[in-house]
Amino acid sequence: MADMSRFRGPTHRFANPAAVVEGFRPPKEVENITFNDKMRLFGDPLDPNFERDNIVAAALPGFGQGKAKEGNILCHRLLAESLQTVFESIQALNLPYYFDPYRDTAESHYCLRYAKTEDNYKALVNRPEYAKCDKSHWNVTFAKADQAAGRGNDLVNGKRKCEHLSAHSWGSALDVNPASNPLGNGKEFDLPYEIVCEMAKFGFYWGGYFQHTGSDFMHFQWGARRSMGRGRIFLGRAWPIPWAPEICTSRPPSISS
Ligand SMILES: [Zn+2]
Repeated sequence: MADMSRFRGPTHRFANPAAVVEGFRPPKEVENITFNDKMRLFGDPLDPNFERDNIVAAALPGFGQGKAKEGNILCHRLLAESLQTVFESIQALNLPYYFDPYRDTAESHYCLRYAKTEDNYKALVNRPEYAKCDKSHWNVTFAKADQAAGRGNDLVNGKRKCEHLSAHSWGSALDVNPASNPLGNGKEFDLPYEIVCEMAKFGFYWGGYFQHTGSDFMHFQWGARRSMGRGRIFLGRAWPIPWAPEICTSRPPSISS
C-alpha cells in the first residue's frame, strides 16, 4: 500500500467526469486525437519493428522524494524532447509534489496493449486465439499475441483490433503516480491542477477529462491539435509550443476535499 502522506498536495474528488471538466477546466488546444492521427504521426505499433524503430528512453527530472531522481520512461522518439522539457518545466514550478519512480514491469509508459476497458475485455476474452494467453494481463498478452500472429486487422465489434489499442501502444501516453491517481469515476486523486496545465502547454491531454471511457487520473497522452495544421507535422521541431497563458485558467480551482 502506498504511503499517501508523502504527497503533500491537496486531494480532489468530483462526482463524475463531467464534474471533473467543470472543476479542472480543460485547455482547448489539446484533445484526444483519433486513431488515424496516431497511425499517421507515430506509425503502426503492431508492426514487429515499431518498438525498435520508434521507442526511446527519456530521463525525466523530478522523481522520488526530494525530486532528486530521474524517471526513465519509454516513449515515442518524436515526443522525447517535449517530455524532457515539460518535466523540467514542472520541476521549475517547485510544487510540493513529486513523481514516483517507474518500475521495470510498469505498463505506465510505452507498452503494447489494448485499452483496459470492460468493453474490450468482454469482446476479446473468449476468442479462441487467446486460449493460451495469461488472462490476468489480458490487455498486454492479447496485443502481443496479435502482433506476433499479424491479427491486428481482425474485426471485433465492427472495428479492427488495432483500433482498440491504448495510446500507450504508440509510446504517446504515460501514467504518473497511479497509487494516488487511480482509474475510475468519482475516485479521489491528488494530481495538482498546475501539472495538468503544464502538460497541456506541451500538448499532453489529461485522462481525467475522459468522458466516454471514464476518468483516468494518472494518464496523459499526446494530443495537440495546434501542431497538426494542414497536414504539416511539427513534432520534434517547433516543440514546445510557445507559452500560451490562455491555455489554462490563471489560478488553480479552489475545489478540493
Ligand atoms: Zn494510461
